[in-house]
Amino acid sequence: MRATTLLNTVLGIKFTRVTGVEFTQDGLVCDVEPTTEIPCCGGCGRRVRKVYDQRKPRLWRHLDLAGMSLELRYAPRRLRCAACGVTTEMVPWADPMSWFTHAFEQTVGYLAQESSKTVVSTMMRVAWATVGAIIGRVVERMLPSDRLAGLTHIGVDELSYRKHHKYVTIVVDHMTGRVVWAREGKNAETLRSFFEELGTERCALIQAVTIDMSKAYISAVSESAPNAQIIFDRFHVQRLVHDALDEVRRAEVRTLEDSQERSALKNTRFALQKNPWNLTKIEQTKLTELPKTNATLYRAYLLKESFAAILDRRQPNVVLMKLEEWISWAKHSGLKPFARVARTIAQHLDGIVAYVATGLSNARSEGTNGKVRTITRRSYGLHGASALIALIHLCCSGLNLQPVHVLPRFHQN
Ligand SMILES: [Zn+2]
Repeated sequence: MRATTLLNTVLGIKFTRVTGVEFTQDGLVCDVEPTTEIPCCGGCGRRVRKVYDQRKPRLWRHLDLAGMSLELRYAPRRLRCAACGVTTEMVPWADPMSWFTHAFEQTVGYLAQESSKTVVSTMMRVAWATVGAIIGRVVERMLPSDRLAGLTHIGVDELSYRKHHKYVTIVVDHMTGRVVWAREGKNAETLRSFFEELGTERCALIQAVTIDMSKAYISAVSESAPNAQIIFDRFHVQRLVHDALDEVRRAEVRTLEDSQERSALKNTRFALQKNPWNLTKIEQTKLTELPKTNATLYRAYLLKESFAAILDRRQPNVVLMKLEEWISWAKHSGLKPFARVARTIAQHLDGIVAYVATGLSNARSEGTNGKVRTITRRSYGLHGASALIALIHLCCSGLNLQPVHVLPRFHQN
């Protein structure tokens, strides 16, 4: 069997024939060519008969062969396309702008869905930054074009990256738990561009949107999705109360002169923020002593705990009543941070009670949210928001990638 015949079978790339083989210092180089008679335009994909000239041979990385690096070599033709002008022909094994074959990119995508940066880079012998560009192309090829169809219940969340200086807005379909849309930015304009993409008809079908209490999101949703009920995400609402508690604690620490007392109070931070059933023995003791050691902080703690307990209840009318009581209590607690939070909560009461009525929150797709945050950490070293967005789509939009497995096809020429 000739080496080229053998490699034709082993590589099994569609519409591609191996014409020569050469070993170099780096590994194996296979000369290849498309089997189609008439070349296709790299710009529009149409068949073009007029060949302009032929470029110098160039290389594409393909999957390693038994641990040896393997590259395809071909001198692409330039075509005179009626629609695009002079363009380079499309090759059957790779995207027009890529130096990697489809099979290579698909494998990188498959690995990047599940494994660490190091595994992807080491196994595939590519820099992590290059992985970002590859994922971008994989996602573009695979992301279903109808992913915005049939949306009725969605969650909008912002994601900070680059040490919290930059943001990406993410839209999750509550029904499937999948990320359906993501874009850089977190202002009203960002979210508006999602609704624009959705179009008026599909916007009218949106029944519920979970968001945080930011004015930007509220105005974008109420303008663009007239039939949608706004639900304030429980996690974000509770965070306001947690932050108020922490503000009270820090203020109390500052009033103490004795350094031992100060550090004792400083150390209560985690005990105060935790759910009571998650407390360790030591933390429990700290909290038991709190009413005696610091009555102000204890009052703040009770406010935080009772707020969470209210949101745990099931009957919207009871929750509304209890929240009104809570607001009044917080306003008159003598704790400024809580009085402030109480005003915010009073302004957004409908959307908070809507959470109890519907049970919808961004935390419902917590699997997705947690995953998105892990992905953000993995995205360090990738270039810009677009690479992060591609990685989010790759891992959270339901793309099913499989490693490339080739079977021998003996009747191929
Ligand atoms: Zn063209």
